[in-house]
Amino acid sequence: MADQKVPAVLLFGAPGVGKGTQGKILGSVPGFHHLSCGDVFRAIDISSDEGNQIYPFISNGELVPDDLTIRLWEKRLNALVTLATIKPMQDVLILDGIPRNVAQAEYLKKSVNVLQVISLSCSDEEAMIKRIKQRAVRENRTDDASDEIIRNRFDIYRKETSPVLSFYPESIITQIDAIGSPIEILNKILNCLIPICQKHFQQN
Ligand code: AMP
Repeated sequence: MADQKVPAVLLFGAPGVGKGTQGKILGSVPGFHHLSCGDVFRAIDISSDEGNQIYPFISNGELVPDDLTIRLWEKRLNALVTLATIKPMQDVLILDGIPRNVAQAEYLKKSVNVLQVISLSCSDEEAMIKRIKQRAVRENRTDDASDEIIRNRFDIYRKETSPVLSFYPESIITQIDAIGSPIEILNKILNCLIPICQKHFQQN
């Protein structure tokens, strides 16, 4: 466990809303580090013990059980902090895909200090499904190969993940309409984050 909580910004929203796209762009800026929970899982060798445990869930669009998720995610965070890839005194973690339910949000309090929640929203579910299918081909993501699995991911998002928003105080939540070009959405996110990150590091 990292000694010090890592400051974090949470990218929140339904599958296909653009969290990964924005997370990757933000993560390329010095001082920000993008950590996608899905990427943590996808980096695990499918034939390892851990791979055997997680892949049945991922391939069906189900959530990986919390204890396993937290263990693997925390292992990755600790490695990044130990290697000084993330320096809690000067860097901000861009969280993507975690927490996926309230139990995970509660658990994360031990290791991260959530400065801001960026809630990306898009009312056009069909547009998001189209985007997910294009990504499935581009990134060879078998979990997004079928309509049934994608619909299941949306159901889980509605039932288990959307309540996570009420876990955080309204004062740290910014709603951003995710319809538009990546650069327009990036602009809105940066307008929100720049003053918040500056204030955080001035005070700490
Ligand atoms: P993502 O790349 O965020 O779309 O995640 C891909 C898949 O990984 C999800 O459909 C889940 O099976 C699994 N997954 C990612 N993040 C989590 C999480 N925080 N908790 C449980 N399962 C997760």
